[in-house]
Amino acid sequence: MNIFSYHQASDAASAITLKQAGPTTKYLGGGTNLVDLMRETVEEPETLIDVTHLASSIEQCADGSLIIGAGVKNTALAAHGAVRTQFPVLSRAILTGASAQIRNVATVGGNILQRTRCRYFYDNAAHCNKREPLSGCDAVKGFNRYHAILGASESCVATHPSDMCVAMVALDAVVHLHGPAGKRSLPLRDLHRLPGDTPEIETTLHPDELITSVEIPALPFAKKSTYRKVRDRASYAFALVSVAAALDLDGDGNVNDVRLALGGVAHKPWRAMRAEAHLKGQKADAEHFQAAAEAELAEAVGLRDNAFKIELTKRTIVAVLEELKGEKA
Ligand SMILES: Cc1cc2nc3c(=O)[nH]c(=O)nc-3n(C[C@H](O)[C@H](O)[C@H](O)COP(=O)(O)OP(=O)(O)OC[C@H]3O[C@@H](n4cnc5c(N)ncnc54)[C@H](O)[C@@H]3O)c2cc1C
Repeated sequence: MNIFSYHQASDAASAITLKQAGPTTKYLGGGTNLVDLMRETVEEPETLIDVTHLASSIEQCADGSLIIGAGVKNTALAAHGAVRTQFPVLSRAILTGASAQIRNVATVGGNILQRTRCRYFYDNAAHCNKREPLSGCDAVKGFNRYHAILGASESCVATHPSDMCVAMVALDAVVHLHGPAGKRSLPLRDLHRLPGDTPEIETTLHPDELITSVEIPALPFAKKSTYRKVRDRASYAFALVSVAAALDLDGDGNVNDVRLALGGVAHKPWRAMRAEAHLKGQKADAEHFQAAAEAELAEAVGLRDNAFKIELTKRTIVAVLEELKGEKA
């Protein structure tokens, strides 16, 4: 690991000023991803700006929405009473991620901006367009069991690894940002990019922007929501496929409203808009759940080792919807 200097920012404005001081300066959350990447010399910042203590509270507003500081630890968010009772999908998603020890230090901001777990990205001896633009992608013809089946490109087939973000995208989360040009907000689903020809550009963040908080809008039917993660080991493993869902049925068993998002399948947390559109107004039954899953995966493309994920994703969508249908309101 290279030598680096460490600063603790006293507020968001000073963090941004410190960040602008050098081209390789980075914000530091819990360090559970960034420091690993520094050890592997994939990332080599000369300066780290610790932002963990700047916004570490969770506020529930009168309308039921939540404002979650970017410095809130994953453990605290998963354990928060309002999250557990009103947005269980979020609590469950976080608890499937990493280990208790990692969740105790990992922050919301860092979780959102954690980088892919593609093994070729971590291996300096491999070709990786994300790590070194225009160098090629060894994953396309390599070991690609964990890689993308939706929205990938010839340049990059990596996936976004976060569980938390999948639930947040399903819940229409909004990210609040503070940067040199001021403050702005954007839907979380527009923060991460698909790879295209520039997989090294992972987000729509402007230079030096800091995530200050995440807002989860009120969604009464999210009380009936869940997260299912399919993985190779029962714990401490990234998703092969995951599904975050919330389902609202009317008295006749028809779908009033639904939220669906997928993890482990794309370069970004994947909001399943096609499936949602197929479900709204339809009978909540196996036939329509299957049709919705088919519609969402219609353009999925499998690689040598991951084609099974197409069927696995469909089955997981159907299983999660069946589970929510069976829950009492
Ligand atoms: C062994 C292991 C297993 C794991 N398993 C899972 C899993 O199953 N599911 C899962 O979802 N995750 C998993 N993780 C990843 C873990 O969730 C992330 O490492 C963690 O959430 C990152 O948070 P952090 O605060 O430590 O971020 P850091 O490592 O500190 O930072 C990550 C990135 O975010 C940037 N950043 C941090 N805060 C801000 C901010 N406020 N504004 C702008 N930029 C910011 C940093 O500059 C850096 O680029 C695993 C990690 C490990 C090591």
